[in-house]
Amino acid sequence: MRLAKRAAAISPSPTLAITAKAKEMQKQGIDIIGFGAGEPDFDTPEHIKQSAIAAIEQGFTKYTPAAGIEELRQAVCVYLKGSQGLIYKPSQVVICSGAKHALYNIFQVILDPGDEVIVPAPYWVSYPEQIKLAEGNPVIVETTESEGFILTPEKLRKTITPKTRALILNSPSNPTGAIYNEEQLLEIARLALEYGFYIISDEIYNEIIYDGRSFKSIAALGEEIKQQTIIVNGVSKTYSMTGWRIGYAVGEETIIKAITDLQSHSTSNPTSFAQKASVDALLGDQAFVRIMVQEFKKRRDYMVEKLNGMPGIECSCPPGAFYVFPNISGLIGKKHNDQEIKGSLSFAELLLQKARVAVIPGIAFGNDNHIRLSYATSFEKIKQGLERIERFVWELK
Ligand SMILES: *Cc1c(COP(=O)(O)O)cnc(C)c1O
Repeated sequence: MRLAKRAAAISPSPTLAITAKAKEMQKQGIDIIGFGAGEPDFDTPEHIKQSAIAAIEQGFTKYTPAAGIEELRQAVCVYLKGSQGLIYKPSQVVICSGAKHALYNIFQVILDPGDEVIVPAPYWVSYPEQIKLAEGNPVIVETTESEGFILTPEKLRKTITPKTRALILNSPSNPTGAIYNEEQLLEIARLALEYGFYIISDEIYNEIIYDGRSFKSIAALGEEIKQQTIIVNGVSKTYSMTGWRIGYAVGEETIIKAITDLQSHSTSNPTSFAQKASVDALLGDQAFVRIMVQEFKKRRDYMVEKLNGMPGIECSCPPGAFYVFPNISGLIGKKHNDQEIKGSLSFAELLLQKARVAVIPGIAFGNDNHIRLSYATSFEKIKQGLERIERFVWELK
C-alpha cells in the first residue's frame, strides 16, 4: 500500500535518531544525561491543577464551542491587554490544542499551493513541515550569530516575492533565545505593510526572559500591523502545562473564523477542563512564573560560563527561552580516536556514544555549527552533564 504524497513528504526529524538511541541506551541501564527537553521540568502549579479537578467534579466534561469557551477567549484578551496593551475581542481569539496546533491551523487556512512562508533560521523544527503539509513552500532565510540571530530588513527584503504570504517570527526564539527589540520589529513591520504579508508571531516564550529584557509583540507597534499579525501563544511553556494541550491564535476575525470552522471538523474543541484551568493559569497568581524564570536564569548562567571554558566551544548568553545554543564549529574536523566530527550531527552522535550525554544537533534547526542544550533539567544533572561534555571535548584531537 502506498502513502499519500503529503505524508511521504514529511521529513523525519533529524533529532529523532539521537533521541531514540538515547532512550534505547537508557533502557539498557546506561545512565544518560539528557539536554534535549523541550518542556519545563517544573510541576504544573497547584492552583491550576485544582481548577481542572474542580471542573471535572462539576461535570465540565462535554464538548465546548469549537473556538473554545468564551471565558478563556476573554481571559486571553485580558492577558494581551495587560501585557501588551493590545485590544482584541473574544471573536478574534481561537483556542486550539496547543500552540503547535494553532500554527498548523493557521497555515491550513492562509496558504494555497505554492504560497511562500519566510522562515528565519535557526527555526523551530515544525514550521517547515507544517507549511509543507498545507502545500506551501517554506523559504528559509539564514540569520547569523554575529547578527544575534535576528533577521535583518535587508535579508528579509531580498527574500520577499509576489508569492510571499507570511513571515514567521519567533521571539524569544527556540533554539537561539534571541529576542527582537522594538526597532528591529518596526523595520520588519514596515516591510510587511509595504508588501502585504502576514506576520505569524509565535510568542510561546514571551514570559521566559532574563536580565531585565522586555518583550514586545510586533502587533503592539500600531493598528495597521496589528491587523496583519496573527499572534500564537499558549500555556505550555509559561505554566509548565505542556501535556494539557492548550494554545491559541489571535488576529483578524476572518482568519479566526476559518480556523474555528476547520477545528469544528477536526478536533471539535480543545479539552474542556484544560480550558477551565487555563483561565486560572492566565488570570491567577503569577508567582510561579517568576520563580521558574529565576531558577532558569541560574542554570543558564552556569551553563554559559562552563561551556565558554571548554576548548573549541563558544556560547553566547541567550536572553530568553530555556536553551543555550553553543557554537561548536571549532571542533568540526577533530577526531575522537579515529572518528571524525563532521558537523553537529556527528558531534551529537559521538557525544552520546562516548560521553553519555544527549544534545540536539543544530542541523535540526537549520544550522550545522551549533548544538542545542535545554536547561529545563535539574542543576545536579546540568553539572554532571557539563562535566562529561568537558571531558569529551578535551579528548578530541
Ligand atoms: C514548544 C513550542 C511550541 C508549541 O507549544 P505547544 O503549546 O505545547 O503546542 C510552539 N513554538 C515553539 C517555538 C515552541 O518551542
